Amino acid sequence: MSSRLRKASPLYLIGVILLVGILYPLLTRLPRIDSTPELPAPDPRLANLGTPPEWTELSKYDGVLTRAEFETALTDIYLLGENLHFEIGENAVTVASELSPPGPAIAFAVGETRQAPPRYWRPANEIPSEPTGQPLAGVRIAIDPGHIGGEWARMEERWYQIDDTTPVTEGDMTLRTARLLAPRLQSLGATVTLVRSASEPVTELRPGDLKEYAARLMPGAPAAEVLARAEQLFYRTAEIRARATLVNETIKPDLVLCLHFNAENWGEDSAQPRLSPRNHFHMILHGAYMDGEIAHEDERLELMHKIFQKVHEEESALAAALAAAFLEDTGLPAYIYRLGKPTRRIGPALWARNLLANRLYQCPVLFCEPYVMNNGEIHARVQAGDYDGEMEVAGTLRKSLYREYRDAVVKGLVDYYSSRRGKAVN
Ligand SMILES: [Zn+2]
Repeated sequence: MSSRLRKASPLYLIGVILLVGILYPLLTRLPRIDSTPELPAPDPRLANLGTPPEWTELSKYDGVLTRAEFETALTDIYLLGENLHFEIGENAVTVASELSPPGPAIAFAVGETRQAPPRYWRPANEIPSEPTGQPLAGVRIAIDPGHIGGEWARMEERWYQIDDTTPVTEGDMTLRTARLLAPRLQSLGATVTLVRSASEPVTELRPGDLKEYAARLMPGAPAAEVLARAEQLFYRTAEIRARATLVNETIKPDLVLCLHFNAENWGEDSAQPRLSPRNHFHMILHGAYMDGEIAHEDERLELMHKIFQKVHEEESALAAALAAAFLEDTGLPAYIYRLGKPTRRIGPALWARNLLANRLYQCPVLFCEPYVMNNGEIHARVQAGDYDGEMEVAGTLRKSLYREYRDAVVKGLVDYYSSRRGKAVN
């Protein structure tokens, strides 16, 4: 036995070396796991992964809006239901807060005097005209390719495949569009930053990190449901929150272009998707909070930034210019939401909705939703891929799907900034 042991000892040595080789990188990665951001505790008074509001941030908005301006924005754009959380007095609005009662007050502007709204972004009329012949000179644009794509596309439920054709994955299609769009905007003078430049998440968190949070949101739920919730918290919530930090703290753009492709319900099985005869276009503006949403205190804080920075004014004018270009260039009909959906119609193909991205990004957000990915024609155009010039696809001569998308965005932005910038610089 001892001789067998001795014989085997070189093998043991190799085994030990292999084991150290495997364990060492794992152990040295431990600090990364330790550095995973501390998660807040779930609280029904906060949105998922939300943190208690820093109400002191709001004092900078004293004297920016009159009472009438505040009330009009709150009722006409932002709240779908009754106002239950903002006490509107003669001189100030007080935001209700259970987490730090009685909540902050923001003073209204009185008479003719107004404080300029403090904000990192600039509306077109505050961006000076430059005699460069470049309509987007000096405009800071962030492009946010929607979703993650790549190996995450199935988890995100933004993936389908018909037989052995190329899979249709929204997160990769938006990135492809972004990569075509960025150089074109730069050539027109814009400073462009991609919020995501690979088919990888921006957040450091992974579904495993969010299991405990998910379990606390749904006590007693079966493990499979908890996992599904943790995955959603990863790709939907944590991912958007990480992108928002990047947008608001680092990029600080004048606008964000959120690129998406729409879809009609393709059923449960992504390998046997239902195709839709429908194809359409719309854009989403920020607004239309449901009662359950404005019941969250962090959402109340985020709404105050939107109202007092007058985001809607710039966002809706920009979106109208982009929508006009999309409707003209793509020939798509304007999408109409079904009755009962928590939306508010703002204009042709323009709908207000409270999405996490357009709420957290503090600047104007242009949320584009052209094309129905599971429409037969769009499937054929995805199969045709990207190409220069025009080509016959599904019986019609046309640009690649991605270039048609790019060109509509460029046209809308050029139209908007050519007519608006530098018009009232003080
Ligand atoms: Zn999308």
